[in-house]
Amino acid sequence: MVQDLRAILDAAHFAALKHAGQKRKGAAGEPYINHLLEVAELVSWALTSPDPNLVIAALLHDSVEDAGVTADELAQRFSQDVADLVMEVTDDKSLPKAERKRQQILNAPKKSVRAQVIKLADKISNLRSILHSPPVDWDEARKRQYFEWSKQVIAALTQPNPALLAEFERTCRRAEEIHL
Ligand code: ZN
Repeated sequence: MVQDLRAILDAAHFAALKHAGQKRKGAAGEPYINHLLEVAELVSWALTSPDPNLVIAALLHDSVEDAGVTADELAQRFSQDVADLVMEVTDDKSLPKAERKRQQILNAPKKSVRAQVIKLADKISNLRSILHSPPVDWDEARKRQYFEWSKQVIAALTQPNPALLAEFERTCRRAEEIHL
């Protein structure tokens, strides 16, 4: 237990260092680490049995895609399991953005059950950000498109975590309530 706690805090610290200076795209310009902590908190909230590596992978889920960390680095510092989970939720950045978004829908059913937990938590956090602090240059249509695409990705998951799916649906309903 103490070892697990240490490893989780080590991952949070590592993520804070690697994403230092990065901000969310929203008007509030929140530090990027807020997003990583929110995703990890959602994952730990939804788990019915302890899975420290999944919480660690949630903290590190954007480290390869957005902070130049390598899978080898994650395997050495954390574990192969953590590295594999992070790679499962990492987009191929060599592809154009529209293709990456299409791939997310196509690949969603192939993800492991644990990777699907991170996917769902990530989408909840991103949708909450669009509701609370949208990017300044996004009009209503762009926000709506993002919600629609997120719904398609989540609908393609084969075994979504029930608690997170309910929270995802609540977030989508909130968007409808404000007529997004
Ligand atoms: Zn993310």
